[in-house]
Amino acid sequence: ETPLECPVDRDELGRSTWNLLHTTAAYFPEQPTDTDKHQARGLVEGLAAHYPCDHCREDFKESIEEDPPSLGSRTQFALWLCRQHNKVNEKLGKSAFPCTIQNIDRRWKYGGPECWSAEYDGYAHETLG
Ligand code: FAD
Repeated sequence: ETPLECPVDRDELGRSTWNLLHTTAAYFPEQPTDTDKHQARGLVEGLAAHYPCDHCREDFKESIEEDPPSLGSRTQFALWLCRQHNKVNEKLGKSAFPCTIQNIDRRWKYGGPECWSAEYDGYAHETLG
């Protein structure tokens, strides 16, 4: 019989969500259309309305009211998410990520040489399919 998989806990949910958000921002258009911006705002606001951890959701809602999503470009979106994630890091006593687009892209888009095999000469989006 297949072993039962357990529901995710708060940390796993958080990591999965940040993975999705930062990766989405990494591939957001540098020149988004109004539709792109509208849909990305929907993603953020949908999370703020439905994130299934009550106190996380309440704080996140407040946080995006103070600093609403910046969606004018890929860089703006990525930097905005970095700031939002750092607010949560600070609350949890974790260290802040150094929010420059170079650091963000290295973490979420390109990786270092250790991320790729010797023959590999492409970028992460090729592995995302
Ligand atoms: P995570 O914080 O999940 O980070 C994953 C990876 O992202 C890190 O290893 C690092 O490489 C990278 N990273 C870290 N900071 C940044 C940044 N600023 N910008 C870009 N990349 C970065 N947990 C709670 O206990 N209480 C809460 O109130 C709470 N609120 C949350 C609100 C939201 C909207 C989300 C998505 C998650 C929330 N979490 C909360 C979960 C929490 O943020 C972490 O995901 C969880 O504690 C696991 O942490 P982690 O150390 O594995 O790394």
